Amino acid sequence: MLKELTSQRLEQPCVEVLNPATQESLGWLAADSLEQVESKIVAATLAQPKWAAQTAKYRSKLLRKWFDLIEQHQQDLALILTMEQGKPLSEALSEVAYGASFVEWFAEEAKRAYGVTIPATFDGKSIRTIKQPIGVCASITPWNFPVAMLTRKLAPALSAGCAMISKPAVNTPLCAIALRHLALEAGIDGELLPVVISEQASDVGLKFCTHPSIRKLSFTGSTAVGKQLMQQSSQQVQRVSMELGGNAPFIVFGDADINEAVAGAIVCKFRNAGQTCVCANRFYIHDSVYDEFAQKLHAAMSKLSLGAGVDGHDIGPLIDEKALQKVDQLVHAATLAGAELVCGGKVASDIGTLYYQPTLLSNVAHDNPVMKVEQFGPIAALCRFSDVDEAIHFANDTEFGLASYFFTQDLTLAEYVSNKLQYGIVGINEGIISTEVAPFGGVKHSGVGREGSALGLDEYLETKYIAVGGLR
Ligand code: NAP
Repeated sequence: MLKELTSQRLEQPCVEVLNPATQESLGWLAADSLEQVESKIVAATLAQPKWAAQTAKYRSKLLRKWFDLIEQHQQDLALILTMEQGKPLSEALSEVAYGASFVEWFAEEAKRAYGVTIPATFDGKSIRTIKQPIGVCASITPWNFPVAMLTRKLAPALSAGCAMISKPAVNTPLCAIALRHLALEAGIDGELLPVVISEQASDVGLKFCTHPSIRKLSFTGSTAVGKQLMQQSSQQVQRVSMELGGNAPFIVFGDADINEAVAGAIVCKFRNAGQTCVCANRFYIHDSVYDEFAQKLHAAMSKLSLGAGVDGHDIGPLIDEKALQKVDQLVHAATLAGAELVCGGKVASDIGTLYYQPTLLSNVAHDNPVMKVEQFGPIAALCRFSDVDEAIHFANDTEFGLASYFFTQDLTLAEYVSNKLQYGIVGINEGIISTEVAPFGGVKHSGVGREGSALGLDEYLETKYIAVGGLR
């Protein structure tokens, strides 16, 4: 599936892909120069009008074939994902299924790019709108979900009739290459979905943002890089979609089912070793259930096994040394600022270089540094609250606004809190909120636009208003 990967360093500029579980080399890929990126953009620009001119049904059929091939090769794709990214194989299989679901969904949505007819205000006139593909788009995606973050952009772009040039994260380029192979096998023209392999992310980003042929940039990654790209893309007045960082609160009210809340906390916090943008980042627990929740969470955490994703463990390695150091420093800063360390708090060097022990911090103050930044690691930090509005204040006291979670059995309280939370996504008694059928996206510094759902297609379409006069 990956003929591009060679076992030896190439003579031309190249990128080495490492297995984070073992730090061993998986192989080398030729890197694209900026001239090669230019050629790929030019080829996509030439191929896109023909693709846009096909019927939506034609595009839909090819996307459907692509979906079938992804399903057929799900075991191989999951293995590639685990090898380059580190997550447990069971999670990799779930990600492949989630990633494939966008291809299936947008294969169907391709046929529903409806315009509208608007009642005219004068006789002899008609007013209608049609939807047309934006044109050539570019995507930049992170390493934490190398399959799903790509298909969540590529599938709607292709189904709308756009071309999309993609730059996957340098740590995890293999999934993107494998997905492209399957798209080609499905019959989609390869010039519509070129992949750029490069260690020069900022140069490639600048190229994407300033190229006159690229009409849209879709980015998933950190808020800092997203802000830089938004500034750059203003030069060509590009449309942008930005899926950026989060700082998700997880609130447990006094009447919550504590067993359910603990189960939700485990999947929400420790999936992908805590390296997801929608991970619970701050736990706010009502005083009346704090001790019970803390004890039960501790017990559940102590059952989590740490080890290589291919060996069936619950928590794999962090992506690289920088990520590991960030998590370790955050835990130290948290305890220095008064948090109690209940368990974990160390690099699990007995297992490998990049593993961090699941860490529980208790009695953490709301203004502790660990509550202020996106942790991206297996840290659960618990803070007490005594009043509903205090919990809402804590939850909203951040520049981020991607996902939020709370647990309660009280319908009136659930209605009140979900209205007050300043987030794009609210999970009530639910720790997993991602699905292709619902709109995914953030408010405030967490982003612009929505992916998935019926709204996801609109991100790749322009609305054209057509006014006709002189009708008899
Ligand atoms: P990152 O540093 O922003 O990298 C993300 C992507 O941007 C990578 O492909 C990276 O390339 C590229 N990049 C880095 N610097 C760039 C620049 N100056 N110009 C253009 N591209 C650049 O983010 P990360 O730390 O890898 O990923 C984690 C972040 O993504 C977290 O903040 C997380 O919350 C966010 N995220 C958000 C969502 C969402 O849906 N909202 C989903 C997943 C992740 P290289 O890999 O080559 O450096």
